[in-house]
Amino acid sequence: MTVKKPKIVVLGAGYGGLVTVTRLQKALSVDEANIVLVNKNDYHYETTWLHEASAGTLHHDRVRYDVDSVINRSKVEFIRAEVQDIKPDEKKVILNTGEVEYDYLVVALGGEAETFGIEGLKEHAFTISNVNTARQLRDHIDYQFATYALEEDKKDERLTIVVGGAGFTGIEFLGELANRVPELCKEYDIDYSKVRIYCVEAAPMVLPGFDPELVKYAVALLEKKGVEFKIGTPIKGATPEGIIVAKGETETEEIKAGTVVWAAGVRGSSIIEKSGIENMRARVKVNPDLRAPNQEDIFVIGDCSLMINEEINRPYPPTAQISMQQGETVARNIVKLLKGEGDLETFTPDIKGTVCSLGDDDAIGVVFDKKLTGTKASFMKKMIDNRALFMIGGPSLVLKKGKFNVL
Ligand code: FAD
Ligand code: NAD
Repeated sequence: MTVKKPKIVVLGAGYGGLVTVTRLQKALSVDEANIVLVNKNDYHYETTWLHEASAGTLHHDRVRYDVDSVINRSKVEFIRAEVQDIKPDEKKVILNTGEVEYDYLVVALGGEAETFGIEGLKEHAFTISNVNTARQLRDHIDYQFATYALEEDKKDERLTIVVGGAGFTGIEFLGELANRVPELCKEYDIDYSKVRIYCVEAAPMVLPGFDPELVKYAVALLEKKGVEFKIGTPIKGATPEGIIVAKGETETEEIKAGTVVWAAGVRGSSIIEKSGIENMRARVKVNPDLRAPNQEDIFVIGDCSLMINEEINRPYPPTAQISMQQGETVARNIVKLLKGEGDLETFTPDIKGTVCSLGDDDAIGVVFDKKLTGTKASFMKKMIDNRALFMIGGPSLVLKKGKFNVL
């Protein structure tokens, strides 16, 4: 008689999903479990590098690699498909290509742009979400510059770019854009003074909550490169012509722009909402062992998960750093469940720091409680980027995809 092997299904080949799978394939033999990975593309992309591909400072092929290059196909079945729903009661996942049953499920589907229901954003703004959006945004900006000399209609707006949100995504994108625009001006014979780059932020400061001294450094650097900040200015809507912002308590103002980028927040995956698993804005407030509440066999990690930092009574920010650490814990917890090894491990994030790039050549950050700016911070950011590659694909992936253009 053959014993049915437990089936572990991991949804999403992002940071959390790939760390989970690479740890599971190492810890379990083919006789112990069937491991299945589902992802909509046959490649993984470095979400944390998407601002570069979006601005056109790094080709999109540099920010992605084949899933196959890091998984062991003799131990892991890879299904390239789009997840459409999860049915916890039936222990199965609905895909656009069929269905897959599970004994243990790991949901690592990442986040989606949060538009807070603001009118027109979905239709008229670009986001920095994946390889497809990055390619689209880069091409759109290039097109605006390429047509500037040819089209009289909306001429000035063509060279106006609005970035909504001065969080880390908005600021990192602006850093790249400020380096890319002079190249575009040169390529298309455009006077740099004709270009307007606005950063519109609802809060009264850039990078709300981050170290004020470092924020000052970032703002000064970006302003020097031509970025105009409009802080304390919530975006109220987007139109084909640009954006509408609040002006004072009751009035609004229009900023005309040929390119509007919405970088003002993320939520979890809409699949979570659809599945009926308890959630807040598509994120699951997970138990300390990373299982969803009332779900013995479903783990949720990365941007789909929500964990409260008890010290400040606020959620931990959704980051790649935490997603990867969660992937390691989930893999260990699943092995414990399979082997009946007692209590599951409790997850506690180990935050080593935060570094925000300001283009390829500059950055700000706090690492192990030490403040960094300029070349040192930029070097550290590249080391962090390389570490993510190392954690999933080891030294060979770092050699293939790593950033070695250190200053
Ligand atoms: P992801 O890594 O985003 O992966 C999700 C995967 O699921 C993707 O492969 C996707 O294709 C797949 N998927 C999604 N939906 C489906 C579906 N329906 N069916 C099948 N597959 C699906 N964090 C840091 O710690 N440091 C940084 O420097 C940093 N920089 C950032 C820069 C930018 C521009 C952005 C946007 C974010 C940055 N972050 C950073 C945040 C970080 O990228 C996210 O927190 C992290 O990617 C979340 O990891 P994840 O494993 O949850 O999902
Ligand atoms: P965020 O939520 O951190 O920042 C969004 C910003 O948009 C906030 O400053 C907010 O005040 C602003 N905003 C919200 N509504 C607005 C409106 N209507 N008009 C104008 N501004 C508005 O989102 P993010 O920057 O996309 O970051 C998402 C996550 O990814 C965070 O956890 C962040 O830490 C992480 N991340 C980290 C890095 C890094 O470590 N280098 C880089 C990028 C992102």
